[in-house]
Amino acid sequence: MARIVYVNGQYRPYAKALIHAEDRGFQFADAIYEVIEVLGGKLVDATRHLVRLERSLSEIKIASPMGRAALLHVIGEVIRRNRVRHGVVYLQVSRGEGRRDFALPDAAVAPTLVILARSQPPAKMAAQAATGIAVKTMPDIRWGRSDIKTVMLLPACLAKDAAKHDGAKEAWFIDATGHITEGASSNAWIVTDAGVLVTRQLDHRILGGVTRATALDVAAKAQMKVEERAFTRAEALAAREAFVTSATNTVMPVVAIDGQMIGAGTPGPLTLRLRSQFHQTAEISAS
Ligand code: PMP
Repeated sequence: MARIVYVNGQYRPYAKALIHAEDRGFQFADAIYEVIEVLGGKLVDATRHLVRLERSLSEIKIASPMGRAALLHVIGEVIRRNRVRHGVVYLQVSRGEGRRDFALPDAAVAPTLVILARSQPPAKMAAQAATGIAVKTMPDIRWGRSDIKTVMLLPACLAKDAAKHDGAKEAWFIDATGHITEGASSNAWIVTDAGVLVTRQLDHRILGGVTRATALDVAAKAQMKVEERAFTRAEALAAREAFVTSATNTVMPVVAIDGQMIGAGTPGPLTLRLRSQFHQTAEISAS
């Protein structure tokens, strides 16, 4: 079946879904994106994702390309046209096209909107969660506004590539004070020896993950103890459990950091509980 991509008002075959050579997303990474999980053809936590999209756009002064209801309609159409049951929707809004100029264009320039959907076999994700993943730590060399979900992802690409060379699936960034900020494409969590869930507090150094927010809801419902604070690499290495959260992975166990085993080197019980209860708490909505 041919893949269909939405680009600026049109549903186009994959190979013909094109944007302008002077699109500012391409020239300057002047763009915002979102990734939303699709479960049984429905959207997971759509409201939180669209609220974050609006916030990111407003932080860098890009106008919303359309209202929330219209956007949900187009997202639903892309899911249906690609017959995605389980997978992800990728959505990108750039500031639009125009002569390459650092200064921002006139506010009247229309933003570029691209929406793709891709299937992701749940069995593959479940298999990965059953064994857990390894992560590699490295310095956080990103800009100071990681709370804005821009497509400026080169540090994350390089970090994940370095992790891959070490047999790790994810990179954990460390700030100048020796504390973990977050994963290259996920939020970082540990479970201390006392059984307390720890994840960094929201600030400009990390993305406010939607999965992080829902995982906090799951933890609250299950009356788990939680601390939102920064933790060091040493604390992570001594942790009982570790995991990452992201829309593509929901809750994914981490069983090794920099080649050192975490806990028993197998997915931890609190992690697996959060994972198994996640979709009961998340907002699941037809689009
Ligand atoms: N941090 C970063 C840097 C990310 O790229 C992502 C995933 N896009 C996350 C955290 C997790 O966010 P979410 O749970 O909304 O997918």
